[in-house]
Amino acid sequence: MKRAIFASALLLVLAAVAFVVLAPVIVSAIVVGGGRSRPSDFESRASPAARALVERAFAGLGEAQLLDVHAHVAGTEADGSGCEIDPSMRSWLHPWRRMQFSIYLAAAHVEDLDRGAAEFADRLLDVSRGRVGILAIDRRYRADGSVDREGTALYVPNDHVLRLAAEHPDRFLPVVSVHPYRPDALLELDRCAARGAKLVKWLPNSMGIDAADPRCDAFYARMKLLGLALLSHAGEEHALAAGDDELGNPARLRRALDAGVRVIVAHCATLGEHFDEFLSLMDDPRYRDLAFGDLSAVCLRNRDARVLRKLLERTDLHARLIEGSDWPLPAIRMLTSTRRLASDGFITPAERAALDQIFRYDPWLFDVVLKRTVRGPQGERFADAAFLTPPWLVR
Ligand SMILES: [Zn+2]
Repeated sequence: MKRAIFASALLLVLAAVAFVVLAPVIVSAIVVGGGRSRPSDFESRASPAARALVERAFAGLGEAQLLDVHAHVAGTEADGSGCEIDPSMRSWLHPWRRMQFSIYLAAAHVEDLDRGAAEFADRLLDVSRGRVGILAIDRRYRADGSVDREGTALYVPNDHVLRLAAEHPDRFLPVVSVHPYRPDALLELDRCAARGAKLVKWLPNSMGIDAADPRCDAFYARMKLLGLALLSHAGEEHALAAGDDELGNPARLRRALDAGVRVIVAHCATLGEHFDEFLSLMDDPRYRDLAFGDLSAVCLRNRDARVLRKLLERTDLHARLIEGSDWPLPAIRMLTSTRRLASDGFITPAERAALDQIFRYDPWLFDVVLKRTVRGPQGERFADAAFLTPPWLVR
């Protein structure tokens, strides 16, 4: 009996060791978009078909006007960026979270944690084109306005994105994040607006924000006064610590819209049960100049094909859609299935082969070219306007 227990304990330890040793191999196999081919090699080495697909994707779009409104940057306590990561993400005592952390690092091309924030931003500059909205993420707060550090999986301070945007004013747009329950929320909005921010990011599910709560009213009034727009996650949330998915219901954003605040519904609420509520916001004539949707993650394999088809068919809404990459998610190979997109008729087999090749050089480019290529049942494509910077977003 004792021997049996000893043997199984030994087996468990060996399995754990194998897991830790093999994790980097498993991760790089999954994240091929973080692999060997460099974005700068694409023009000289990619096949004519892959280059032609990229050329067709950007035909008629000025590169300086391109916009990716939804990209993440991050760092850790080790790199001086002020970012904070939940310790469980770095501990093998939490194998799943640790694995997730390794995948994000590989996708973002971070090799040295002491330079993590800089490597993260440099890679994004390297792979992307045009303007990129880089997202801060505020901490989770409780209803009484106190900070919930244990409930905060990732904190990216406003100063980090404001600093990066100041360093690369032609490339990065700062998207700040202010929790509306913070005692100093209005002051922080003032401070960020004075430093040039035009957009505020919320993750209601994981930050614990109810956008329909009257306590947000003063916040909305100040946003309107300062000319700030809200980019709010909608739908289920899987990338960070899961939260209350009802807070991801876009219908809750009506309170912000009713206060006259411009709102971009992230992912067009495509994950989970709330896509119809997104469409009714967009169809509400009162919100015609206020409600928008971002295209980040809409082609990922965890989305229902009917939802992408509906977005393509609704050409009347395309002028109010805005491209977003949700970087670094496009670099995680297992999240996008070009095979399924082809079998569902969104792309042809030849386009699929070209896209797979683009992915190996530049996963950000892959993501935007994919969205320029997908077509609906009647051949509908996302309109040019969805990929260009709306005038109200730039100073
Ligand atoms: Zn995101």
